[in-house]
Amino acid sequence: MFHDNNVNRCIHCSVKDCKYHNGDENYCTLDSINVASHEKNPTDESCVDCRSFECRNSGMMS
Ligand code: SF4
Repeated sequence: MFHDNNVNRCIHCSVKDCKYHNGDENYCTLDSINVASHEKNPTDESCVDCRSFECRNSGMMS
């Protein structure tokens, strides 16, 4: 198992607004993630997204 305190140390991530982010360390808590590009011909990292992202605050009333 790769997991340590509900952190997947194989997936480093700095997106703290995602509900799957471990808040204390910059890692994801999922077993696996889906990554895809929103560009037809991706040329750098800004073209690539984590499709497993879910907003930490989604579903919360303001
Ligand atoms: S699901 Fe994606 S965006 Fe969210 S913490 Fe994991 S790697 Fe980061």
